[in-house]
Amino acid sequence: MYFYCMYRCILKKALLAINLIITGFVATAQKVMEPANVPAEWSKPYPAFQIAGNLYYVGTYDLASYLITTPQGHILINTGLAASASQIRAGVESLGFKFKDIRILLTTQAHYDHMGAMAEIKRITGAQMMVDSGDSSVVADGGRSDYALGGNESVYEPVKIDRVLHDKDTVSLGGMHLTMLHHPGHTKGSCSYLFDVKDKWKSYRVLIANMPTIVTEKSFSDIPAYPSIAKDYEYTLNALKKQSFDIWLSSHASQFGLHTKHKPGNKYDPAAFIDKKGYDSMINDLQTEFLKKVKNSSL
Ligand SMILES: [Zn+2]
Repeated sequence: MYFYCMYRCILKKALLAINLIITGFVATAQKVMEPANVPAEWSKPYPAFQIAGNLYYVGTYDLASYLITTPQGHILINTGLAASASQIRAGVESLGFKFKDIRILLTTQAHYDHMGAMAEIKRITGAQMMVDSGDSSVVADGGRSDYALGGNESVYEPVKIDRVLHDKDTVSLGGMHLTMLHHPGHTKGSCSYLFDVKDKWKSYRVLIANMPTIVTEKSFSDIPAYPSIAKDYEYTLNALKKQSFDIWLSSHASQFGLHTKHKPGNKYDPAAFIDKKGYDSMINDLQTEFLKKVKNSSL
């Protein structure tokens, strides 16, 4: 009896130890280290508002999130940081929509400042995550394999992908059709979305453009994890230059000048976001930055 008990006790202890090791391993594997030193305006709350027709701004002061509503549920593009989930939810509800009616989740790029709350929002809503093929591995490992910002730890919670998107694929829901435009460079699967919205007066072609800003400080020729980086930036800049639209928006509010075009409490005014000149000048600045980088990379 004694020996039997001793045997059982040892076995129990061994199983407990194995269990602790496994739990510890899983906990380490899932540890998320969101960068802490980020600009304060990234998480500053901002009142949600109607941009044009069934398109709404539900992001924070600078991290843009967009809600596209339909009778069959809603599409959410970008989430900001991990802590943004409750702010986005409050924004959606303040507009009179149900958070749980979000059916599709999209992102313009798989960086932590647009993906931080995606896993939590997916858990709450059960929505389908759709990602540009170039960013699918980064989304699945929470940013660890990102060519510029990657490392040993996830910087956001990994998200299960339900559909992988390719250039010019259509995302449809409740009569809305969004065309995904593959605009790589900033990340391997950065992308923009093109779609039409209408109100009772007018119809608008909207471009949510991922601006090809340069993330890496390394020379383009010194990035073995992304050999086509320079070619991709060049492709994206040319594609954005040729793109036509009425309204343009972007991943960061500061990129499209939200705070000069809109003040909280302003009345509905889609025309405030018609700004081809601002778009062209932004693309030109990015082109200059890119050419400077290419020149330095080949020295
Ligand atoms: Zn980014």
